Amino acid sequence: MKTILTGDRPTGKLHLGHYVGSLRERVKLQNSGEFDEIYIMIADAQALTDHAGTPATVRENILNVALDYLAVGLDPKKSTIFIQSQIPELFELTTYYMNLVTVSRLERNPTVKAEIAQKGFETSIPAGFLCYPVSQAADITAFDATTVPVGEDQTPMLEQTREIVRKFNDVYGNGTAILVEPEILLPSNNVCRRLPGLDGKAKMSKTLDNCIYLSDESDVVAKKVQTMYTDPTHIKVSDPGHIEGNVVFTYLDAFCSDVEKVCEMKEHYQRGGLGDVKVKKYLLEVLESILNPICERRKEYEKNPDYVMNVLKDGTAKAHSKATEVLKRVKAAMKINYFES
Ligand code: ATP
Ligand code: MG
Repeated sequence: MKTILTGDRPTGKLHLGHYVGSLRERVKLQNSGEFDEIYIMIADAQALTDHAGTPATVRENILNVALDYLAVGLDPKKSTIFIQSQIPELFELTTYYMNLVTVSRLERNPTVKAEIAQKGFETSIPAGFLCYPVSQAADITAFDATTVPVGEDQTPMLEQTREIVRKFNDVYGNGTAILVEPEILLPSNNVCRRLPGLDGKAKMSKTLDNCIYLSDESDVVAKKVQTMYTDPTHIKVSDPGHIEGNVVFTYLDAFCSDVEKVCEMKEHYQRGGLGDVKVKKYLLEVLESILNPICERRKEYEKNPDYVMNVLKDGTAKAHSKATEVLKRVKAAMKINYFES
């Protein structure tokens, strides 16, 4: 059995970082026919770990994320799209897994550490936030996922999940594997594993407000491309330019399939004589060719929110029945299935 589980937090609309880091891969894997089951989760309970006071934001973005999914080509006939909070089994699993990790192990997670600093949580970390990697272990194992296609920031989460799986199997398995140990699947193109923001910062992220959203109209995309960080020492067109840390070239590497042309442009830029305006114009063409069809499909689905909510309802019912089955197995292994004959 080959099974995918992955997802996104409904804290905003999805952006180009999600697209190259995970969405584009998911659609490819979905259409490859190599997987028996594909589960795509809208992680609203996880979003609440740092949005406890703004539940309306989370609620409103459930539909946004679902629209983005359908617009990029996730197909509900092949992929089960569901809402995390509607599956109580995930929270039961989280509780049992919590006993298999230490607080100091959770505090060492480098992604969580960076997020704590970014959100200013240093002296007041919500317990739920510190523990969200444990709840991710529940999300992944509840579907017997073998494969988790995500961006690089998720590497520590997958390590934590694998540790929990090994510990669980060791403690409760009696020689057999009760839980499936998942593998991370990162994009093969290195720059796609962590797409930088428009401002040149390490990661395009909703929280950092440095994104191009999949639903941005072309005039908005054009404006954002104009503001992109390039090489501050490249003042005159004739000056030799640098491509390291120059986000425009990083994006060309991530989005342009004409590798030869990008190579030529890089050489020209480094020699001098190629202006930022021209490179940005080309990047805009490349991005438009990807984003325009996504935007059009999104607009079609926007006309029919009832259809989208039904997709989520059906997907959630299917996911629920799978998680119920796995939780039953877990409770039997833990010998807490008192009333089962
Ligand atoms: P938030 O700021 O709310 O955490 P986010 O922009 O980090 O939002 P998530 O919902 O946390 O997005 O991430 C969902 C998925 O998208 C994960 O698999 C993550 O690795 C991937 N991802 C997010 N941002 C990027 C990026 N800039 N480059 C590559 N992958 C990314
Ligand atoms: Mg994130």
